[in-house]
Amino acid sequence: MLAFLRKHISSSLPSSETLYRSGLVRLFSFQENLSKRASPTEAELLGMSTRMRYYYRKMDDPVWRRARCDRQLKYWHDRRTDPEFIQKEQRSRQKYFDKRPYKGGPLQLPTTIRTWLNMLTDEQRTGLAWKTHIPVFTSEAQVRTCSTCENTPARGSKLWWKQINNQSDHRDESPELFECHSCYVAKGMPDIMPKGHESHVWGEHRSRPKP
Ligand SMILES: [Zn+2]
Repeated sequence: MLAFLRKHISSSLPSSETLYRSGLVRLFSFQENLSKRASPTEAELLGMSTRMRYYYRKMDDPVWRRARCDRQLKYWHDRRTDPEFIQKEQRSRQKYFDKRPYKGGPLQLPTTIRTWLNMLTDEQRTGLAWKTHIPVFTSEAQVRTCSTCENTPARGSKLWWKQINNQSDHRDESPELFECHSCYVAKGMPDIMPKGHESHVWGEHRSRPKP
């Protein structure tokens, strides 16, 4: 069945080389590739570095392979039991965890708020009782000038905070004021949340406020 499929596919498709590179035919011809890779020709060997040439000439020797495997196992065993190596690994792991989405630090608050708002629908977002600004999401980035920091991001932003105008008589004359996301979130935690969600505590494995 496999042989039939392989024959059928390779005859019906234009170039097996491009297909092999794309990984399509690899499913059917894995064994062939393995044996091809395992025995390079003399000309190929001459083009290799001394180290690789030595490896390919020795690789069929079971005793040499066993010794090589043991050497590598010993190397990694020594490293894993080396206290200096363990410390180094712990440090790099800590570095990775420090970069994770939310750890409670103030620096991650903008991302957390944006992610939460992004998950809501338009009705849910506008339905919340915002106090000073309403979040405005657009599918394309909008270039606007922030009313607080007066910066105009060249690439724009998909999220802007529109100021709520309480004076109804000047509604037509006063221009719409927008604030950038970082300026809005910089006001701090209880102020930026809508009414009813001021006491929400953000954090990993915690639920997001529901509108
Ligand atoms: Zn700003």
